[in-house]
Amino acid sequence: MFADIAERPVVDAASGVLTIDLAALAANYRLLQARLAPARAAGVVKADAYGLGASRVAPALYAAGCRDFFVAHLGEALTLRPLLASDARLYVLNGLQPGAETACAEAGIVPVLNSLEQIDNWTAQARARRSTLPALLQFDSGMCRLGLEPQDAEALATEPARLKGIEILHVMSHLACADEPDNAQNAEQLAAFDRLAALFPAATPCFANSGGSFLGASYAGALARPGLALYGGAPFDGLPNPMAPVVRLDVPVIQTRIVPAGSRIGYGGRFVAPTEMRLATIGAGYADGLPRHLSDRGAAWFGDTRLPIIGRVSMDSIILDIGALPAGSLHLGSLVEVIGPHQTLEDVAEAAGTIAYEILTRLGARYHRIYR
Ligand SMILES: *Cc1c(COP(=O)(O)O)cnc(C)c1O
Repeated sequence: MFADIAERPVVDAASGVLTIDLAALAANYRLLQARLAPARAAGVVKADAYGLGASRVAPALYAAGCRDFFVAHLGEALTLRPLLASDARLYVLNGLQPGAETACAEAGIVPVLNSLEQIDNWTAQARARRSTLPALLQFDSGMCRLGLEPQDAEALATEPARLKGIEILHVMSHLACADEPDNAQNAEQLAAFDRLAALFPAATPCFANSGGSFLGASYAGALARPGLALYGGAPFDGLPNPMAPVVRLDVPVIQTRIVPAGSRIGYGGRFVAPTEMRLATIGAGYADGLPRHLSDRGAAWFGDTRLPIIGRVSMDSIILDIGALPAGSLHLGSLVEVIGPHQTLEDVAEAAGTIAYEILTRLGARYHRIYR
């Protein structure tokens, strides 16, 4: 699959090769869409499409049939707008910041309105333009992060004039525990959201994220918002992953050596070689998004052989114990797998004590990126 990593000159100028499989991304989109039908699947492409490059990912999702794209900030939406056809809708999850209304309206971006203040600012913009402006209305169904609190939603429902000039495309809320299918908070949030959504019967619901897309039809609403699952991440924590892997990361060996027993390995000299050891240093580190918490815990792979990380992760390099490989297997420029068929995103995240989201979104800018 990666024979053409033999683009050596480019590879050797970078800290590693990040391969992003746009066909797998499209397959994941279609799988989610089929599961969610008759609801529609949006694509969440915030944070540069979870670090994978929104300018490549969003058009690939569009080609797979996606027409609804969620980002966190207006700036992200403005960057993507010219890259997508005019029938693509772009939504801003973090809401409408004061002063951003004109730019948002002019670019045809749909804000998620999270408070009465934001609603008032958007209706004022509609009045000033003598037009109707689209929006999503978000309710807090129990996460306490963003959205109208229940009492504000109830008050708003008795005062429809306050929404004059706004076309509510969907009512929306967000699950806090969707990656844990047995967590009782899921059903509690669904019930809370259904009750508030019923106050605005003209708008259809937008509720499920990746995990929520697999919780059953009652969670699907009219428009779901999967992110992580599109990028191959597991929708449910610790359960089998139905998504196709999208990301592969290979990092080159930049030096090999044999060290005698008693050698202190890496920053701090904390790891002391108990015997003679064979080591390889690879050319990516925490500045490339490989967390320092992988020190003495994580691994890379060469073929089917696991190569443990020894000592501390450095900014630009990591030392591996390659004693399990036949001598001479690795040399300057050999590529080892950091994310791939032997080690999933979730494996790396678990070794680092974090989640797949954080590993993905931090994948560094120094990798040579190949989109296929
Ligand atoms: C990030 C985000 C999503 C996507 O979540 P995933 O777990 O990646 O599917 C959906 N909705 C909101 C409000 C978000 O912030």
